Amino acid sequence: MEIEVQELTPTEARFKIRESTPNQVNSIRRVLLSDLPKMAIEDVEFHLGSVHDDTTGKDYDLSTSLFDESIALRLGLLPIPTNLKHFRFKDRCTCKGEGCAHCQIVYTIDKKGPGTVYSRDLVPLGDPELAIADPNIPIVSLGARQALLAYATATMGTAKQHAKWQVANAVGYTFQPKVKVSKGTGCSDSCLRKVDKVCPAKVFAFAKGDLDVVAEDKCILCKECEKACTHGSVKVEADPTSFLFRFETDSSLTAREAFRVALEDLSSRFDLLRDAVTALG
Ligand SMILES: [Zn+2]
Repeated sequence: MEIEVQELTPTEARFKIRESTPNQVNSIRRVLLSDLPKMAIEDVEFHLGSVHDDTTGKDYDLSTSLFDESIALRLGLLPIPTNLKHFRFKDRCTCKGEGCAHCQIVYTIDKKGPGTVYSRDLVPLGDPELAIADPNIPIVSLGARQALLAYATATMGTAKQHAKWQVANAVGYTFQPKVKVSKGTGCSDSCLRKVDKVCPAKVFAFAKGDLDVVAEDKCILCKECEKACTHGSVKVEADPTSFLFRFETDSSLTAREAFRVALEDLSSRFDLLRDAVTALG
């Protein structure tokens, strides 16, 4: 298997995988989708009643326009930067599941209206680096004399348990398209121009009576170009051994880290299988 990275940003990756099979590439896709660990808010403790603000001298009602469950759901979906060298699953932690700095993060929210509670209003207890990755995610609007006072605790999980622990999204691949234009098949300019025009992915460039393939990777294998040319001068095929693979992350892990962890996960599973087979004797 050969991998050629075409684009790598902190949250997006696009690469070619050669000399592989759909089974292998699909196993990478599935691990990225459901087996990567990350931190997400699991418990929220809402304070009820009212609070007095000494600065303004006003009393605030600790209620909002949303049910607490809806706020908790929104908090659960916030992307929390996850250092996998530091954090562990709670049930596998040395604290034996009691909760410690290696298996949970506690955030406080103390916001008074009027205004909007944003993800930046979640203040981590301890390391400020654990602030929510995107600070501008709105959570709930507060009216005048409304306030939100809550503690939110994040723990590690995977998307197999709940979608809030899903690191990667838009994970997918296509077969590598192979687009060939044969010269000298008797095509007229109008025929070649039509091929260029019908392509929805702008794979071709037509100029001076000549048709060139300029963006083969963008081909979506719709084969409209083949239908447009009655002389058979355009041929589109999918290479079953090469793949264009892409995915994004929610910024809890970088794309590079997510891919590294996915490959390690796959590798360790096959190690387990190998050990089990070896033990059979
Ligand atoms: Zn712990």
